[in-house]
Amino acid sequence: MAVLVVVDGMGDRPLEELGGQTPLEAADTPALDRLAKRGVTGVVDVVRPGVPPGSDTAHLALFGYDPYEDYTGRGAFEALGAGLDVEQGDVAFRGNFATVREGVVEDRRAGRHVPEGDDLAALLDGVTPEGFPEVEAKVRHTTQHRCAVVLKGAEFSRQVGDVDPHKQGERVKEAVPLDGSEAARFTADVVNAVEEEFHSILSGSELNEERESRGDLPANHLLLRGAGVVPEVPSVEERFGVEGKFVAPVALYRGVAVAAGMEPVPLGGDVVSMGDVEQVEAEAEAANEAAETDFLFVHVKGTDNASHDGRPEDKVEVVEAVDDLVTELWEVHDGPVAVTADHTSPCAEMSHSGDPVPLLIHGPGVRPDVVEEFGERSCASGGLNRIRGRDVVFELMNLEGRVPLHGE
Ligand code: ZN
Ligand code: ZN
Repeated sequence: MAVLVVVDGMGDRPLEELGGQTPLEAADTPALDRLAKRGVTGVVDVVRPGVPPGSDTAHLALFGYDPYEDYTGRGAFEALGAGLDVEQGDVAFRGNFATVREGVVEDRRAGRHVPEGDDLAALLDGVTPEGFPEVEAKVRHTTQHRCAVVLKGAEFSRQVGDVDPHKQGERVKEAVPLDGSEAARFTADVVNAVEEEFHSILSGSELNEERESRGDLPANHLLLRGAGVVPEVPSVEERFGVEGKFVAPVALYRGVAVAAGMEPVPLGGDVVSMGDVEQVEAEAEAANEAAETDFLFVHVKGTDNASHDGRPEDKVEVVEAVDDLVTELWEVHDGPVAVTADHTSPCAEMSHSGDPVPLLIHGPGVRPDVVEEFGERSCASGGLNRIRGRDVVFELMNLEGRVPLHGE
């Protein structure tokens, strides 16, 4: 089995409060250091040197695809990750339950607390908008105020603008086509009709009456954004002849993995609501159960959460939990493993940046380099030097003899 561990936003910059070290450098990581020492290391420009990657394009790249050519919008990944079926021709969106009064967005997240999200989504699931009898909307609640929506039944385009104004106090936008194609025009018309239908169903629902009588904001609108279609890419099986599985609690990453032809490993408990460290522990358990598969992708989210909130100490803790995960994995697994990040997320910036990320690859046949520790700066002296994100999986699969010969 080959394992790819992606620690979201793990890359960082030296921080004064950590004595001039990055969170990864400051963390106590005996297992990662041992793998770096016995393996080969390098740094990775996940999308392109100096370009801050989104998590979606970054993961496409780490699975070996072109983050520019093969990227077809975030919505489809969210929907696939939520367990919805997205086929060629369909268009998918991310959606927020929101509070809208007289066309103005009072709260983009309907107060964030939407415990009746599953039931509200069920009211919208299967809706056919007026004037488009061939179209059907599939709606699935994911977490808090969030949903995924897929439009089926026609040839849609992803070139359609957001309905979500991304700001409180502004009017709900009308969906507009983003290019001159007939499909984009049609998609925009359908989205507007669907939004109207959603609003009328949600406004009239008893669930919202109950919310208001409790003093909660009504979740009376579903604001769509991030239109996407499924990318037409070869699966990991087609490319490397491997059965791929993934351990990933968050919908977006699950979705990119599904688009790459991988299957989920069941996670025990309510992993989505767990604390960042606890979540990694639950993932470690699931990863160990999947030790029989050919290719396993493990995604860790907590490092990026801590980065966006500017919490370097918590980021250190999540990295140390990853070290434990790797240690445990080692008890059941001795094949190649790659550990890297999807982008740098400097805690001081609280967002993604374009700095390269560290990478280690360990396994039978690897040519060890001089690097003895896993860190942003140590890996810059590694034997892999500086590579592109889309090359990582090839480097890993090469150790398994899974990359087809190019030429004769
Ligand atoms: Zn990310
Ligand atoms: Zn992020």
